[in-house]
Amino acid sequence: MLHPGTELRKINDEIGYGVFATQPIPRGTITWALDPLDQILDQHAAEQLEQPYGGNLMRYTWVNGNGHRILCWDFGRFMNHSCKANSYGPGGCQFEIAVCDIDAGEEITCDYATLNLENPLVCQCGSSRCRGVVTSDDLEGIAASCDELIRSAFARIREVKQPLWHWLESQNTKIDHMLLRPDSIPSVLKHRWRPASDAIASRNLRVAT
Ligand SMILES: [Zn+2]
Repeated sequence: MLHPGTELRKINDEIGYGVFATQPIPRGTITWALDPLDQILDQHAAEQLEQPYGGNLMRYTWVNGNGHRILCWDFGRFMNHSCKANSYGPGGCQFEIAVCDIDAGEEITCDYATLNLENPLVCQCGSSRCRGVVTSDDLEGIAASCDELIRSAFARIREVKQPLWHWLESQNTKIDHMLLRPDSIPSVLKHRWRPASDAIASRNLRVAT
């Protein structure tokens, strides 16, 4: 579920839609949290459904650290990528947090490299940190800076209004432990998931060398 202070807006024909803040969203605010209406599909179920949905399933889902596809029931599925995103999630956690103050009218963005992007994305985010082409392999290179942003924002999690707090509690997220021990906040590297075929190829490569 997205933060309620957001709306869906058409950006242009090329990009399509995006999620925009309708009110200021301070750093440390939960921007999205998994809720029971979101669909969680394993790879087999997703592959079975891909054809009848004409490619839209893959387009509008993202892959979590367990290899499951998440389809947000609300317009969370329209959140766009930015190489300088303002919303990131701790590794393996089912929520995202604003890592900077987001102004009313500003687009809320995440980094697709943290969402197991399957095909390279030619990026036109326009940020000063634009990587040009985004792949899931970017994750290792950006992890340290993402983790720093998340840990800094997380320190404010009890200080700002949290309309989505219920969903964090439902996930049994150990917020207080993470506040006491910021080094226990999981790295975004925990988001990484590799298909079994990749793991096999990797093993074969090691054997061959
Ligand atoms: Zn970019």
